[in-house]
Amino acid sequence: MYEACIGLEIHVELDTKTKAFCSCSVAFGSEPNTNVCPVCMGLPGALPVLNKKAVEYAVMLGLAMGCKINPRSQHARKNYFYPDLPKGYQISQDAVPICVKGFVDMGGGIRINRIHIEEDAGKLVHGGVETLIDYNRAGVPLLEIVTEPDMRSAEEAKAFLDYIKNTLLSLGISKCRMQEGNLRCDVNVSVRKKGEDRLNERCEIKNVNSFSGAVRSIEYEIKRQTELLCKGEAVLRETRKWDDEKRQSILLRKKEEENDYRYFPEPDLPPVEVDEAWLKEIKEKMPELFYEKALRFRKDYGLGDYEAKTIAENKDAAELLDDAVKEDADAGLCAKLILGDISRLVNEKGTRVPFSGHSLAELSGLLKRKEISYTAAGKILELMFESGEEPSVIARENNLLQQSDEDALIKVVMKVIEENEKSVSDYKKGKKNALGFLVGRCMRETGGSGNPHIINEMLTKILEVEE
Ligand code: ADP
Ligand code: ZN
Ligand code: MG
Repeated sequence: MYEACIGLEIHVELDTKTKAFCSCSVAFGSEPNTNVCPVCMGLPGALPVLNKKAVEYAVMLGLAMGCKINPRSQHARKNYFYPDLPKGYQISQDAVPICVKGFVDMGGGIRINRIHIEEDAGKLVHGGVETLIDYNRAGVPLLEIVTEPDMRSAEEAKAFLDYIKNTLLSLGISKCRMQEGNLRCDVNVSVRKKGEDRLNERCEIKNVNSFSGAVRSIEYEIKRQTELLCKGEAVLRETRKWDDEKRQSILLRKKEEENDYRYFPEPDLPPVEVDEAWLKEIKEKMPELFYEKALRFRKDYGLGDYEAKTIAENKDAAELLDDAVKEDADAGLCAKLILGDISRLVNEKGTRVPFSGHSLAELSGLLKRKEISYTAAGKILELMFESGEEPSVIARENNLLQQSDEDALIKVVMKVIEENEKSVSDYKKGKKNALGFLVGRCMRETGGSGNPHIINEMLTKILEVEE
């Protein structure tokens, strides 16, 4: 009966070296108030200079999201007072943002209204009776992505947020560390009768700082508004704050109390010019995006949908796979190792993959030539995470190479056949699973190092012929 209309305003902290308008470092976790200067502290007479990298990153994101890039955009002052904002205004973009009118092909399609460049505010640290301010974050470059209200459910919003995060990571323009506040969003929700075109009054939920929080806040808000509408009551235009611990939103202010930011063009900064030549240069160095990678993994490497998507969404994994395939490794085998033991070990150890695609290629080669078993590959990987030693060396030193020497194996097979008359006759009577038991016995005889594939073949041949 009812459907939700959801629009997101997503703030992304950019992974530049320096702040948006001065040369202070953006490093997270520095001693409070050490990465500051007269510009980001808003001292009188200090003049901002726009970070060129931030502009480049904005253009890259705009291109990735199908936006039109404005050849000339303009910064503006957004005036308000708050202790974390030393200048008394935030430099943002208002009437002429750098990227406009994008589109993401997802669900029913999600239109991007704009992407603009602005600066972050400082951070208030609330103690018992006092509040401290850390201005290190003041002036860190942000991109704000504003969507049209085109998402229809919390799941769709979550999928869009994942899409944004994967795009940012593909582009390498933000660390996307949620716990460090690199990605935050404001959620706008309204509810209407299904089939209506007009949008109803909405609520804005401020400062949601995790994707799961966004999902919960949207679900909560849809429920709250639907209940109001069912009772015949009106939803009022409000700004609310999400409390993820209490799992509820709290009224911050009503429409009448809304700020008038008195935007005006920033007089200390010239318009941002992105000419044809620069645009071309940026287009040429755009890295491959995660969904383009997934497509290539399916087409060129023959991976399945799930494998391709999962590996493409992880930069390290994708690089590992590409590097291994460059050395002629079997892509399917490598994908299986990456999604299996390698992912498991990365999670367990909380580290990145400590070896190169070259080592993965070597390991998959051992597997492909049946010189090691899958179980042995798992053990070898574990040791590779510990020592960084090459797989063939580890396999040899730990006796994990499969015995493929037929002369040695045939002796084992004959011995097992002699000692297990019952299973042999079962097999001959048609109980085909007796073969598995015999293979297992042979493996035990070889201390696990026999090549089960060869043993299997030998057993079958002998048992079929012998009468
Ligand atoms: P404001 O100027 O008040 O910030 P905008 O028009 O810029 O409002 O919209 C801010 C966000 O709110 C956008 O993401 C937009 O899609 C969303 N939005 C606007 N109107 C509605 C609505 N009626 N229902 C849901 N979302 C809305
Ligand atoms: Zn500074
Ligand atoms: Mg707005």
